[in-house]
Amino acid sequence: MLATERGELLFRDYGVSGIMVLDLSRVARPGSTISLDFFPDVDALAMEGFLAERIRTLGWRSAGTFFNGMLHTRIGQAVLRVAEVSSDTPGTSLDALALARLLKDFRLAVTGTGDPAQAQVTRGGAALGEFDAVTLASRVAPGVFAAGEVLDVDGRCGGFNLHWAWASGIVAGRGAAAHAAGIPA
Ligand SMILES: Cc1cc2nc3c(=O)[nH]c(=O)nc-3n(C[C@H](O)[C@H](O)[C@H](O)COP(=O)(O)OP(=O)(O)OC[C@H]3O[C@@H](n4cnc5c(N)ncnc54)[C@H](O)[C@@H]3O)c2cc1C
Repeated sequence: MLATERGELLFRDYGVSGIMVLDLSRVARPGSTISLDFFPDVDALAMEGFLAERIRTLGWRSAGTFFNGMLHTRIGQAVLRVAEVSSDTPGTSLDALALARLLKDFRLAVTGTGDPAQAQVTRGGAALGEFDAVTLASRVAPGVFAAGEVLDVDGRCGGFNLHWAWASGIVAGRGAAAHAAGIPA
């Protein structure tokens, strides 16, 4: 497992988004799989039991309305589609175990990240080993100082990237000023 996140997920026309996805995009690659657990506070056995009870009491509903009041309509439709259950299937024919597994492990294939122009942070940049950690002066290009995203530093959502940009900007700015004045750092 590359990473695990808990929180809100946005379903967009191009795929999934939201803070969890932004954080996962730091490690997920095309070919990775996202496993969604729609009921993280309910274990698999309890989920199956809950669905079995629901089938017993609400089995008169067709599959298409079975999840009403429990799941967003379109998520319910997606679960049924993956389960290969048509919406007119009688509720009494539903398989509690199979549906519980899907609700606890609904898989999405990662085909890539979104449009780079929309990215909040871009990974990569100048290698940190090439810069002095105290002044952020380049070790290979004297007189060059770097700060922020141009360096190979990135963080999770939560203000870490702005914090890095500001803090490293102060350090590099002071380093550059000292260098210009001929004062040792
Ligand atoms: C939509 C969005 C939301 C974000 N939300 C958050 C958040 O909530 N919390 C958080 O921590 N981070 C957030 N970030 C990330 C954060 O804003 C960046 O990591 C941070 O601003 C990087 O600072 P920087 O100074 O390295 O680069 P930038 O802020 O990109 O500044 C680089 C500057 O250089 C200028 N420039 C570029 N090329 C040249 C050139 N050739 N000559 C002169 N000037 C040039 C650019 O115009 C720009 O003003 C968000 C980013 C985006 C896009």
